Amino acid sequence: MSAAIADLVQSFERHLLDHRECVGLTGSILEVASDGARWGVAWMRCPDCGVRWERRLALNGAA
Ligand SMILES: [Zn+2]
Repeated sequence: MSAAIADLVQSFERHLLDHRECVGLTGSILEVASDGARWGVAWMRCPDCGVRWERRLALNGAA
């Protein structure tokens, strides 16, 4: 796991913790290839609180 992804996972988990009691919580972490680069994308949505969060980090080709 690259440092960028580890950083992404940490902020993702912090957001999940804030909403762990919320029924409608959804979220995921994925890697996408776009414009010749690879990106780590973390997102979460909590309809209960009206919160949407997304963070995207360039992975610089390091796996
Ligand atoms: Zn919530």
